[in-house]
Amino acid sequence: MIIILKENADSAQFEALKKWLTGQNVSLHISEGIQQTIIGLIGDTSHIDLDIIKQFDIVDDVKRIQEPFKNANRKFHPLDTVVEAGGVKIGGGGFTVIAGPCSVENEAQITAIAESVKKSGANMLRGGAFKPRTSPYSFQGLRAEGLRLLLEAKKITGLPIVTELMDLSQLDLFADVDVIQIGARNMQNFELLKQIGKCDKPILLKRGLANTYQELLMSAEYIMASGNKNVILCERGIRTFETYTRNTLDISAIPALKTLSHLPVIVDPSHAAGIARFVVPLSLAAAAAGADGIIVEVHNNPSCALCDGAQSITPPVFDDLMEKIRHILPFRCKLPQKD
Ligand code: PEP
Ligand code: MN
Repeated sequence: MIIILKENADSAQFEALKKWLTGQNVSLHISEGIQQTIIGLIGDTSHIDLDIIKQFDIVDDVKRIQEPFKNANRKFHPLDTVVEAGGVKIGGGGFTVIAGPCSVENEAQITAIAESVKKSGANMLRGGAFKPRTSPYSFQGLRAEGLRLLLEAKKITGLPIVTELMDLSQLDLFADVDVIQIGARNMQNFELLKQIGKCDKPILLKRGLANTYQELLMSAEYIMASGNKNVILCERGIRTFETYTRNTLDISAIPALKTLSHLPVIVDPSHAAGIARFVVPLSLAAAAAGADGIIVEVHNNPSCALCDGAQSITPPVFDDLMEKIRHILPFRCKLPQKD
């Protein structure tokens, strides 16, 4: 971090600032020019609040030259992290496909979808048991029963399962779940992040509807700082001025997050588009742009789905998508080198 002082800074205020800074456990490198003085902070500055420094009258500007996230930062961990979940590897050059319905609805539904996506080559099964719905009157998920049915489908197909946890009180029910999803709406539920950071299960962390890359990485940092290093980042579309699609898939998030962080990055084309026929092209774009995988909503009867039917592709379309992905993978981008 560097602090640029105003011209002719008052010496008493300069001393007060230096005293405050040394109290933050960093050492100072002071460069006094003819016109301006610059203070360089050496050491871990991630806990220092820029806004407090700006409150000192003599400060002209403050800049971070290092990102405030350490655990998630590629600078401190140059190699890709590979997260292992139920025998499946995510990250490090492979392409992992997670597929399944938005919500678990009944035994026949989840079993049939699990069997068909497995046959098409999916690596993991998704399905919501606890659903974050905009309306309290919408289907809220089968909750504990949904988890039981997902575990049954796992037993039948051998596919590891990914499902969303919305509240810590549900954690005990997730003992046999392979990947815990933290949804977009909970991305900045910091208490939840701290607590799930204490468990050792892989966490699929979805980007919030209106959050920056840095905010997503700071949320990953919460989980990792509590001890759990198995974090998978997920770009699922963000709010923009466009209303034709449910959200806007930010393809830049793939190379950007992979430049900033060593964590695997997967893409959710279903919640990004909100429109089933866009899911194949967006999935292919994600694969081509270097994503470590996708999480896709598949339903055997989308028009009757209890949640997100409009964005759910059918098993035959999913089968076709898998075939297309296999053709794209040899040509996909590797992590772009920094200029
Ligand atoms: C989901 O995956 O079912 C979901 C609700 O996703 P998001 O949190 O990205 O909206
Ligand atoms: Mn959904």
